[in-house]
Amino acid sequence: MINFFDTGIEFLKGVGPQKSALLKEELNISTFGDLLLHYPFRYEDRTKYYNISELHEDMPNVQIKGRLGNFKQAGPPRRKRLVAKFQDDSGEIELIWFKGGQWVIKKLIPGHEYLVFGKPNRYGNKINIAHPEIDVITEGQKEDKYLQPVYSTTEKLQSGYLGSKNIAKLQRNLLDKAFNHIKENLNQNLLQSLGLMSRNQAIINVHFPSDEITLKKARFRMKFEELFFIQLKLLSLKSDRELEFKGKIFNSASLVTRFYEQHLPFELTNAQKNVVKEIYKDMRSGKQMNRLLQGDVGSGKTIVAFLAMLLAIDCKTQTALMAPTEILAIQHYNGLKVFAGNVGLKIALLTGSTKQSERKLLLKELRNGRLNILVGTHALIEDKVNFANLGLAVIDEQHRFGVSQRSSLWNKNKEDIYPHVLVMTATPIPRTLAMALYGDLDISVIDEMPKGRKPIKTTHRFDSNRLKVWGFIKDQIRLGRQVYIVYPLIEESEKMDLKDLMDGYESIQRSFPGLPVSILHGRMKSETKEFEMNRFLKGETKIMVATTVIEVGVDVSNASVMIIENAERFGLAQLHQLRGRVGRGADQSYCILMTGYKLSEDSKIRIETMVRTNNGFEIADVDLQLRGPGDLMGTQQSGLLELTIADLRKDGKILQVAREQAICVLQEDPLLAKSENQIMKKYLKRQQQAPVIFSYVG
Ligand code: ADP
Ligand code: MG
Repeated sequence: MINFFDTGIEFLKGVGPQKSALLKEELNISTFGDLLLHYPFRYEDRTKYYNISELHEDMPNVQIKGRLGNFKQAGPPRRKRLVAKFQDDSGEIELIWFKGGQWVIKKLIPGHEYLVFGKPNRYGNKINIAHPEIDVITEGQKEDKYLQPVYSTTEKLQSGYLGSKNIAKLQRNLLDKAFNHIKENLNQNLLQSLGLMSRNQAIINVHFPSDEITLKKARFRMKFEELFFIQLKLLSLKSDRELEFKGKIFNSASLVTRFYEQHLPFELTNAQKNVVKEIYKDMRSGKQMNRLLQGDVGSGKTIVAFLAMLLAIDCKTQTALMAPTEILAIQHYNGLKVFAGNVGLKIALLTGSTKQSERKLLLKELRNGRLNILVGTHALIEDKVNFANLGLAVIDEQHRFGVSQRSSLWNKNKEDIYPHVLVMTATPIPRTLAMALYGDLDISVIDEMPKGRKPIKTTHRFDSNRLKVWGFIKDQIRLGRQVYIVYPLIEESEKMDLKDLMDGYESIQRSFPGLPVSILHGRMKSETKEFEMNRFLKGETKIMVATTVIEVGVDVSNASVMIIENAERFGLAQLHQLRGRVGRGADQSYCILMTGYKLSEDSKIRIETMVRTNNGFEIADVDLQLRGPGDLMGTQQSGLLELTIADLRKDGKILQVAREQAICVLQEDPLLAKSENQIMKKYLKRQQQAPVIFSYVG
């Protein structure tokens, strides 16, 4: 039997073929269930009537009751408007229409009583409401005080008679029929211990709340449910995996000791030490490690990854490191090569541009087990790449890879035992987000920078101060430093952006005659890129003009100034990543954010945040508030966060509760086999059939 909520939306009273097509097209609503999950995004308070004398311009929408006066036309001919007085016992205001006046005159009768709803504005010392919503006072309505749901709609929907009010009507029709079909999906124990509203009551009250308190309870229930099932899913994935996959046990550590005692180039920070301990514990536990390592740019994740690799190699297995770009892979390769050389390990680099002959040899050595470390790009997950015995896979900047790309690296083993997996990211993720996204991973954090780093000084300069900035660059170069100048480049405006970059490049050459300048952008051939980068690395060029291709990668410790042009066009995460390119050496480093005078509120906040702090986690929090979780994670994973009612920006506490409860449930009943957990198991199963959206009604 077809689930009631899977019924096509065209079968709902009031929805014909045209409206159902529109709903599908504009809101992706094609079933009863989809419509019910289209929750109001706010509510208009119709529970209260204001006295006209109370109104002032700082109020949001208000509702008043009173008598309409006579219409008159006002204003100059070109900007004519229709005006009418509106009064109650306490005072009077003006209602104004800039267009549609004919229609208003036809419909409303001066002298009658109406309900008026709208936003008070001030003009001179008079209060008015422009384009108010007006209802006739009927007997029923006098009693009917309520919170009116407001649904998101589009222009197309509105012109197809599917404005917010029409959608509300459809919801009413549907809820009348649906009420008895809405099944509970949480067990009695959870409902009682958390005092949750029942599911059918909650859904009704989210759409048509009787009052604020009920609305709050209803929304809490639905948010909890949504987050709870995500956590239940992630955590049961984790426990399934732990039950199913054994991990190799890595006990011997003579190589580790040798490297640690004789070759470690610096003392590890306490944070690094702790993380290494956590990783070693995993790798010795007999369970397969799945750990996320978060650490700001420059916090020293590479050495941690290498120490993890050493343990795996010690125990006669191979290791791999996958990076999202060629530049970054090369950089990792160069860094690890030095460490590996210290203890006589074999390491190789595999990217799209590895030559055939080289590749053949490399793949052979990989298969016969002589290669200890393979560093590379996506090229690592091609079919032809096979390890003899992969013990540890490290994935850098993992948010740039899809989940399937990650796991295809696991399947590279000839043996049926999966390698341990360490994923690293320099994009700090706020705790709530990490929990929601990576709830199936264990998380380690490096929250401490190596000693002796001077915090980067960040300033904001307007374009009109460019001469001063150029002067500063000159001084720094005279002191022997190198400088990055970064331009934004986004696909939509690529041509314009490239032109900006070239203009900048030319103007810099003109302003600094005789000074060698490098240029780097994504359109260049990879040999040319490498050539330019090497010149800069060797100090042959003093200035590097580039697009964000340098965001990941390039590590030039002598570069101590980062100029970001049109800084208002970058997102916070990107600004932070870019800034992380400097501050790597012993010198004081600087980041200068250049903008025009006109800045949106959001870009002001972004720039101020960058100037205020170097802390990646703090920056990530602001970013989350500004952009919301979906955007923050990029398209790869935003699907995971298509929440229908919970908002990770605000609902961190509910998420915490949901996670705790999910842990409790699984601790007592890991397979959800107990009879009282059947309703939850059933619901979870239905979700797994379509893993992207987590909420269902049925
Ligand atoms: P990221 O976390 O961004 O990958 P890296 O691993 O590239 O950082 O480290 C950044 C720089 O800091 C490297 O030059 C590295 O050698 C150095 N470094 C890492 N750990 C320490 C430490 N404990 N003390 C001093 N320098 C360190
Ligand atoms: Mg790194």
